[in-house]
Amino acid sequence: MSQIPERILVQAHLAAKQPKPLTPEQEASLRAEIAAELKKQDAVLVAHYYCDPVLQALAEETGGCVADSLEMARFGSQHPASTLLVAGVKFMGETAKILNPEKRVLMPTLEATCSLDLGCPVEEFAAFCDQHPERTVVVYANTSAAVKARADWVVTSSCALEIVESLMDNGEKLIWAPDQHLGRYIQRETGADMLLWDGACIVHEEFKAKQLADMKVLYPEAAVLVHPESPEAVIELADAVGSTSQLIKAAQTLPNPTFIVATDRGIFYKMQQLCPDKEFIEAPTAGSGATCRSCAHCPWMAMNTLERTLHTLREGSNEILVDSALVPRAVKPLKRMLDFTQAARLRLAGNA
Ligand code: SF4
Repeated sequence: MSQIPERILVQAHLAAKQPKPLTPEQEASLRAEIAAELKKQDAVLVAHYYCDPVLQALAEETGGCVADSLEMARFGSQHPASTLLVAGVKFMGETAKILNPEKRVLMPTLEATCSLDLGCPVEEFAAFCDQHPERTVVVYANTSAAVKARADWVVTSSCALEIVESLMDNGEKLIWAPDQHLGRYIQRETGADMLLWDGACIVHEEFKAKQLADMKVLYPEAAVLVHPESPEAVIELADAVGSTSQLIKAAQTLPNPTFIVATDRGIFYKMQQLCPDKEFIEAPTAGSGATCRSCAHCPWMAMNTLERTLHTLREGSNEILVDSALVPRAVKPLKRMLDFTQAARLRLAGNA
């Protein structure tokens, strides 16, 4: 199975770097120009929780949405705008296009990818699936359109547990790709029979259990929130494990005044907005000390900037196009996920 060349990671970090920080006036002017362009072009901005807070705020101010990848997909499908401007990484733009082939889907950059997508090339993955034809193929949303087209189900971290549970109840054995840590977590929680691909997220894989345990001693009042793409030893130290939206919910509902958070620090914008009196600290990603010394921030998400967003809108550049031969096959497992989660919501609402 593929390893991601170090060169690609270095290039991503370099491309994500801002030449120089914007002044407040420059930032305000860019925001106003983007808002005007969105209106003019019947476009809506859909941003992921890991994007720069300034883009998240702009999405909210302009009637767009800030969400996890499941809700981004749902929002894009339900919104009437003819152009979806997706601030996130490539698979999110592709998902939007697969679900909305009639809409124009733009992204601030086409270079923003994901280590999980990179680590699961379709030829190798299809060959792996072909070796186990009796297994149901479940792939994480963080995959290419071609990998989705080879799958029976697409899931995100917010619905993976429920979907795998229901497949297991049907007696199905699974192939899971690409995130091995999330796959192992789901396997432990459900007991499902799963063959795991060996991909990993470069951000979550960096969180360190030993240093996190040290940090917990320094902050005894803190609850630990962990995204399940993190290593097993880190998950074991968590007070709450879940997708981005589930971790935000945990920050709101747990009584602790402080939270140590093991996921991309872009999420702090929404957590702080919803819990202004609580304190959020990055979980450690390196070193033996108790303070975070590493990035905890996805270099590809960081490529989404105000300047690139405005440039894309003005030029109509960075349009996402998906091979039309793949769309009918890729849309099926995506729609299955959306239908499953919609039915689960309705059940919950009925029971409320
Ligand atoms: S944070 Fe990890 S999973 Fe998310 S886009 Fe970046 S590399 Fe991919």
